[in-house]
Amino acid sequence: MKSSELYNIAKQVIPGGVSSPVRAIQPYPFYVTSGHGPRLTTVDDADLIDCCCAYGPLILGHAHPVIKEAIIGQLSDGWLYGTPAPAEITLAEQVIRDHPSIEMVRFVSSGSEATMAALRLARGFTGRTDIIKIEGGFHGAHDAVLVQAGSGCTTLGQPDSAGVPADLVKHTRQIPYNDIESLTSLLEKDSSSIAALIMEPVLGNIGPILPEKGYLEEVRSVTAEHDVLLIFDEVITGYRLGIGGAQQYFGIRPDLTTLGKILGGGLPIGAFGGRKDIMSMIAPAGPVYQAGTFSGNPLSLTAGIATLEWIHKHPEMYGDLESKTKIIEDACTGKGGSFVRIGSMFKYYFRNQPPRNYREAKEADTTAFRSFWEKMLKARIFLPPSQFETNFISVAHSEREIEAISQAYKACI
Ligand code: PMP
Repeated sequence: MKSSELYNIAKQVIPGGVSSPVRAIQPYPFYVTSGHGPRLTTVDDADLIDCCCAYGPLILGHAHPVIKEAIIGQLSDGWLYGTPAPAEITLAEQVIRDHPSIEMVRFVSSGSEATMAALRLARGFTGRTDIIKIEGGFHGAHDAVLVQAGSGCTTLGQPDSAGVPADLVKHTRQIPYNDIESLTSLLEKDSSSIAALIMEPVLGNIGPILPEKGYLEEVRSVTAEHDVLLIFDEVITGYRLGIGGAQQYFGIRPDLTTLGKILGGGLPIGAFGGRKDIMSMIAPAGPVYQAGTFSGNPLSLTAGIATLEWIHKHPEMYGDLESKTKIIEDACTGKGGSFVRIGSMFKYYFRNQPPRNYREAKEADTTAFRSFWEKMLKARIFLPPSQFETNFISVAHSEREIEAISQAYKACI
C-alpha cells in the first residue's frame, strides 16, 4: 500500500493519523519500511538520506550492527524483569563518569518522564512551587512545561495545550533565551517561590539557537545566588555535543540534568540525575515519589551501554561530525538566510540573522521553508518537517551523503 492510502486509513483509527503530532506531514506523511545507516526506505520505494535521525537519538545511524547485536543478545535473555538488573548499574556508572555534575541517576522511559520527575524533585527539595522555563524550550508533553513550548507546539501554532489547568500553568514562569536581565529581575522580585529553572542549554526545539557568550555562565551564577536549582535538559544535547553534553562543551555545572534520546541507543529511555543531596530525595530513599514499569528495562539499557561504549571507543567522531556539518554550511554560503550549527546539530533559517530567542525564530519565513523542504524531499533528502526542529547527522553519513545533502541545499534554498 502507498503512503497516501495508509494515511487515509490511519486517520480513521489514530487521531491526526500519527502517534506524535510533528509527524503529520501534509498532505500525507511517508511511511517507512526500513532504515539502514544514513538512509530510510519508504513504502513508496523512495530511498531517502535521513537528516532527522528520529529527532536525535540515532547518532550512530539506523540499525548500527554493534547496537543490533547487543539488542539481539539481550533479547535471548528476556526483555523485562520487573527487578533490578546489573545493566542499570553499568549505565548509571557510565553516565556519572561522563558528567561531573551527576552524582546519582535514575532511569525512566522517555525524556518527558525525566523532566517531569526532575521538576517534582526540584519542588520537593526546595519546598517551592514555581518553575521557570525558557520561551520556546521544549521539555516533553506534560502539563507543567506545555507553555510556549517549541517543537510540534510551535510548528502547529499551538504553544499552549487545551486541557492544562490555568491554575497549574501560573506556576510556570517564562523568560526569553539569551536574556540575563529577565532572569535576574524575575529572581530579584520573586525567588522565594521559585524551585528551579529548566532549560535546554542550546535551544534544540526551535533551533538550534545558540547561547551567547557568557549567557550560560551568568545563568549558573544568578540561579545559585538565589538558591534556585538549575536543570539542564540535555535530552537532545546529551552525547550529541560530545561526551558530557552541553555542560561539558560550555563548562557549566547544573544541579540536575535530564537525558534521553542517544542514551537509549534508539530504544525508549530517559534519565535524570545530579547532586547526591537532591537525588537522595527520590523514593524509596526519600519522600519524592517516582516510579515506572518499564524504567531501567534491560533492552534500552543494553542498547544504551553499547552506544556509549562505541562512542567512547571513537571520540574522534564528534570532530568528524562537526566538519561534515561545516561542509553543509559552506554549501549555503551566499544564499541569504542564516545557517546555525553546533556539533552535528544544524538548521538553515529563512531569516537573515540567526535568531537569538523564540520571538526572533518565529520571524523566519515558514512558507519559504515549506517549499524548500518539499524540494529537498524531491531531491531525496529528509529534513525534519519544520523550520523549528533541529537537523541532525550521524556517524553513518559518509562523504557521499554529505556531498548529496550539500548539493541539494545549494539547489533548493
Ligand atoms: N526534552 C527535550 C529537550 C526534548 O527535545 C524532548 C523531545 N524532543 C523531550 C524533552 C521529551 O522527550 P521524549 O520525547 O523522549 O518524551
